[in-house]
Amino acid sequence: MAEADIALIGLAVMGQNLIMNMNDHDFVVCAYNRTVSKVHNFLNNEAKGSKVIGAESLEDMVSKLKKPRRIILLVKAGQAVDDFIDKLVPLLDAGDIIIDGGNSEYRDTTRRCKSLKEKGLLFVGSGVSGGEEGARYGPSLMPGGHKEAWPHIKDIFQSIAAKVGTGEPCCDWVGDEGAGHFVKMVHNGIEYGDMQLICEAYHLMKDVLEMDHDEMAQAFDSWNKTELDSFLIEITANILKYRDSDGTHLLPKIRDSAGQKGTGKWTAISALEYGTPVTLIGEAVFARCLSSLKDERVEASRSLSGPQGVKFSGDKAAFLEDIRKALYASKIISYAQGFMLLRQAAKEFGWTLNYGAIALMWRGGCIIRSVFLGKIKEAFDRDSELQNLLLDNFFSDAVQDCQASWRRTVSTGVQHGIPLPCFTTALSFYDGYRHEKLPANLLQAQRDYFGAHTYELLSNPGHFIHTNWTGHG
Ligand code: NAP
Repeated sequence: MAEADIALIGLAVMGQNLIMNMNDHDFVVCAYNRTVSKVHNFLNNEAKGSKVIGAESLEDMVSKLKKPRRIILLVKAGQAVDDFIDKLVPLLDAGDIIIDGGNSEYRDTTRRCKSLKEKGLLFVGSGVSGGEEGARYGPSLMPGGHKEAWPHIKDIFQSIAAKVGTGEPCCDWVGDEGAGHFVKMVHNGIEYGDMQLICEAYHLMKDVLEMDHDEMAQAFDSWNKTELDSFLIEITANILKYRDSDGTHLLPKIRDSAGQKGTGKWTAISALEYGTPVTLIGEAVFARCLSSLKDERVEASRSLSGPQGVKFSGDKAAFLEDIRKALYASKIISYAQGFMLLRQAAKEFGWTLNYGAIALMWRGGCIIRSVFLGKIKEAFDRDSELQNLLLDNFFSDAVQDCQASWRRTVSTGVQHGIPLPCFTTALSFYDGYRHEKLPANLLQAQRDYFGAHTYELLSNPGHFIHTNWTGHG
């Protein structure tokens, strides 16, 4: 009997939690998993007493679904998604909808959209953010693909998504093809940037201001009541406070070698591919790479020296406020760069992206959730065609207000030999972006000198000429 509103395949941590979230919102979910014993386990434990039903096979699952059938895949990204799609296609009817909620690469999603359209099926690639907790109580959802599917899934998606403000859901239609997964990828890249910026602030507090863990926790707690109010600042304060079973702080005992799963790298690769200067996310990825060379760094630390005898002698409270402002300004640059990449991808693929809606989708439910994203939404509400966040008055004023602090932070950090890849690249980007003239005139001349690559004159743009710089031949 067709009794289920939707099916979900993949009973790992994300799938189980998303099912229980849908169940809380009165949707009847049919659960399925490659290893079928996990369906039984789930129904007898986490889902016991709920309206969730199970399926013994894909055929069984399909027979239990109302039409048009809606099936969410929450399985390991890559081949597993293609394998399930191949098995589902012969079981489905035209107009049925397959939704991939995993962390798929956006090009795979575009490919799957194209191939399923030929078969008369609808495909949605949706970014799902917020981890286990988000999936259970309200994730940020970023669906894209075949727009005809949206009216059939909108109610479920917007019901289960996180809510902000007066109940606005952190979920809206993103765009065609792989747009939803592209936006999720950029979200993850921005997450890398936000985390690295906080780490740089921590490094300065610890090694320049020589603050102890409780002082640093207090600083982050107080920052969380400012423009920086966000999930990542909040958890940083909690991490700094956390004490091990022996009563000492846990944080300094953790090996300083960061891992990564690849979505930050994908964002940086896309930035290079589409020629967009998303420098901060790139530096955040490289900072993780450098951190992972732990053994090599330990070796290098024995022979390479930094500045000698430099000790901070200024006003500590004032410098702490400088660091806060440097973090805020750098964060503005990071989001400005992220939205530049989204704009460039939209151009490249012919997607129509609603930037304000994207900011709202990230406003709650996900790791980068913050009050700041509400300001980005407001900027795009003021001007949906906004070329760059930095050109919005709110953000240009904010950067202006932070600028002196930002420069003091970077120069003090450099003098003390503290690596600040994201603070510094953000400032360099700002200085580059605001310069009417950059030294690329010399670059063009050099290219023309050795490679006859030609150049334009300021007085005659669009007209390319070559000079014989050596006067020979
Ligand atoms: P996962 O560990 O990525 O995947 C486990 C699920 O995939 C299981 O149901 C497993 O089935 C199935 N699976 C693995 N290989 C398969 C194959 N070759 N064929 C068929 N099924 C296969 O689970 P997850 O952490 O819950 O994540 C699910 C998706 O959400 C992933 O794409 C992940 O990147 C994304 N995501 C995760 C998080 C998070 O915080 N974990 C956050 C956002 C997005 P068996 O039980 O039979 O092995």
